Amino acid sequence: MASNLITEIEVRSVLTAQNRRSTIPYDYTINPYRGCLLGCLYCYASRFVHEDAAKKADWGHWVEVKKNAVDALQRDSHKICGKTVFFSSATDPYQPLELRLGLTRALLEVLLLAFPARLRIQTRSPHVVRDIDLFRKFGDTLDVGISVPTDSDIVRRAFEPRAPSIARRLDAARQLKEAGIAVRASVAPLLPCTPERLARLLAPCFDRAWVDGINFYEKADALREIYTGRGWEAYLRPEHADRVRAALHAAGLL
Ligand code: SF4
Repeated sequence: MASNLITEIEVRSVLTAQNRRSTIPYDYTINPYRGCLLGCLYCYASRFVHEDAAKKADWGHWVEVKKNAVDALQRDSHKICGKTVFFSSATDPYQPLELRLGLTRALLEVLLLAFPARLRIQTRSPHVVRDIDLFRKFGDTLDVGISVPTDSDIVRRAFEPRAPSIARRLDAARQLKEAGIAVRASVAPLLPCTPERLARLLAPCFDRAWVDGINFYEKADALREIYTGRGWEAYLRPEHADRVRAALHAAGLL
């Protein structure tokens, strides 16, 4: 399959009701894109978004843009009032092509007039700061999660080679916080890190944090090879997660 294949699709609805256990509870999720060009090695979103085995195997190298997403959301906007919306569960709404397409932003503009009780944004991308002006209009119904699963760019490159650096994510979080936006650090999936250093980096940039472990649903062999090949097996033990939680707690983030 060609690298970074970007195509367009039409969808009946862009709202998906929560139908599986999630660490982030919500009523509906909105995924403006199907697929994600950040292609994190541990990502298991492909299980939920495509039946095509070739596309599952090539996760990270294709995106289907939901070209009628704005119309579809406008049609369904009556369902959103008073609900919790998670944006997004199976793609990164601020992956680089969003800067060119503006689909996430257009959907947020529809959401603003649909009055969700809570809007949860989730991203790894510093491009999220583009929409600070819109975020302000949501007031305290909105919080933004930025994934920072390690303090080390060596680790980050091993697991998420195409995702932005840790420093850029921290800078984005700081800008959001300074703009008065509630911002949480998603230490998820928890990767090898120095817990106390991670907590020191996160504390000035975030209001709070949460931690979740890694799943070996997809690419299990490749993931195990990273841990064993680099001598990082100890970071899979529960004691590592305990140390991270204790450090984040001491830093006032948990
Ligand atoms: S940014 Fe999120 S959706 Fe995209 S590949 Fe990484 S984990 Fe998956």
